[in-house]
Amino acid sequence: MQTTVTKEKPITKDSYIFTVTAAARILGIDKYSIESVRFSEILNKFIVQFEDSDPLLGGQQKFLTKQNFYRDFANSRRERRHQILVKRTNQPLTFSATSSKDMMASRYVLELTPSTITCNCKDQEVQRNLKLPQQCCKHSYALMELLGMQTLSLIAYRKDKVYQNIVDNLEF
Ligand SMILES: [Zn+2]
Repeated sequence: MQTTVTKEKPITKDSYIFTVTAAARILGIDKYSIESVRFSEILNKFIVQFEDSDPLLGGQQKFLTKQNFYRDFANSRRERRHQILVKRTNQPLTFSATSSKDMMASRYVLELTPSTITCNCKDQEVQRNLKLPQQCCKHSYALMELLGMQTLSLIAYRKDKVYQNIVDNLEF
């Protein structure tokens, strides 16, 4: 059996969602100015500690909520949907997604179900393993845009009606 050679650290919410890169993106600052991001149980918030050497921030702290990170997690994927080309396949409610720029990029399979969109990319796999309430990758967002859907929770919420509408209107 072939296995991965490198020993990867298990992916956790901390390493996948509550990251320095995400904190920098949320705060609109350079990630190298951040010294650490840690969660305070007492405050129920993340404390973002800056480098003392930063003249603008002067070793300050800023606070972020879990919600801030979750929102960024979704938004950063939603923004990247523009890099994705989605096409219909000959299977019903099944689509293929690939990079719109790189012709050699991997191709992923998306499936539209009554409550969500599944994708076989690594990102969704990790999110499933982390048991995030709703998994969504940039490929799913690209498909949602194509189908004129604003949010995944919309299909989950109004299930049959919205789903049926989408299915009825699939023309591309
Ligand atoms: Zn995906």
